[in-house]
Amino acid sequence: MDTKQLLETSATYLMANVSRAPLVLVRGDGMRVWDTDGREYLDFGAGLAVTALGHSHSRVTGAIREAAATLLHVSNLYHNVPQIHLARLLCEHSFADLAYFANSGAEANEAAIKMARKYAKERFSTDRYEIIATHNSFHGRTMATVTATGQPKYHHGFEPLVPGFKHVPYNDLRAMEMAVDNRTAAILVEPIQGEGGVHIPDDDYLPGLRKLCDESGALLILDEIQTGVGRTGRLWAYEHSGIEPDIMTVAKALANGLPIGATLATRDAGSVLTPGTHGTTFGGNPFVTAVAIASFTTVLDEKIPERAARIGRYLMEGLRRMATTRPVIRAVRGRGLLIGAELSVAAGPIVDACREDGVLILSAGEKVVRMAPPLIVEERDCDRALATLDRALAQ
Ligand SMILES: *Cc1c(COP(=O)(O)O)cnc(C)c1O
Repeated sequence: MDTKQLLETSATYLMANVSRAPLVLVRGDGMRVWDTDGREYLDFGAGLAVTALGHSHSRVTGAIREAAATLLHVSNLYHNVPQIHLARLLCEHSFADLAYFANSGAEANEAAIKMARKYAKERFSTDRYEIIATHNSFHGRTMATVTATGQPKYHHGFEPLVPGFKHVPYNDLRAMEMAVDNRTAAILVEPIQGEGGVHIPDDDYLPGLRKLCDESGALLILDEIQTGVGRTGRLWAYEHSGIEPDIMTVAKALANGLPIGATLATRDAGSVLTPGTHGTTFGGNPFVTAVAIASFTTVLDEKIPERAARIGRYLMEGLRRMATTRPVIRAVRGRGLLIGAELSVAAGPIVDACREDGVLILSAGEKVVRMAPPLIVEERDCDRALATLDRALAQ
């Protein structure tokens, strides 16, 4: 089938739950992907901040080949070797003592929410189950996680939502302080809001939330699904803040593109998931966890977080320079290689123009263009992406 036929067949057979760009991608290598017409694109979106090591990374591809030829799946009725090693690896490189594996970000958050409810009921009382999240957040699309997501546009048509969720403005300690009471099981926030527009809280925000949780007995859940695994210039974004959560969820970059989610917790919080209380058929299977081990150890061995910090500074400086000549850029925000430029116009047409000019970038909310390239990106790739964005903004 040629591109036109593929797009027609897509429209015939696929549910239109997302508005896809009219391009069909077939191959990727490093920072580049190619479409069905053989056109090359520079990938500055990394499949929504997923492919941290780029496309077809030799260590990841090697691990995929080996794992596929060894053992794909056995269910969680039995132990498997890579799942055990990955749990230990993640705990040894974070605050956590215990890990649970799922298949996506939303499922990792779903497990975190269930853990927080069970913990609060067992520790405190049966009517303590509320989760406080923030406006403009993004936590996933299952019923509980879409309820936690503080953006009404994701709720329309799906009501009634799940009871027991409250929302307060992000980066507003006072509002959170007012909202926390003896019904609060957990505070759930992203250390940097990604989908909501790349919003970075003040330095005292996460420490303030930690203190509120310590005083009230609520758990602090950090959604690091987008910010984790080196994206922000540290292995985990919470490391910028000097505090540690009770529960952290990770997904996007963890296996460089294979579906995986992880809920990491202190021993205290994680111990509530006793046999039979929660589970998944596919989660943590030996194939995906073997690939996650290969990805994660590559991130550690190649000091990818430091690299993200360095190149992120370069990219952000370039955007800030551009902002001085293009007043359509209202603000440039970011940490590491999670960077947003807030525009005074809609981001969608700019994203389209960049794509037509050979560079894939993302939007985040209405007016923010988001750059989240693979963390292996080089300065010269940034130069090309910046020049492309500059041309798009000039029009
Ligand atoms: C992407 C994302 C999710 C949802 O992950 P899925 O794998 O799409 O379910 C949740 N939280 C944050 C912060 C995300 O960026």
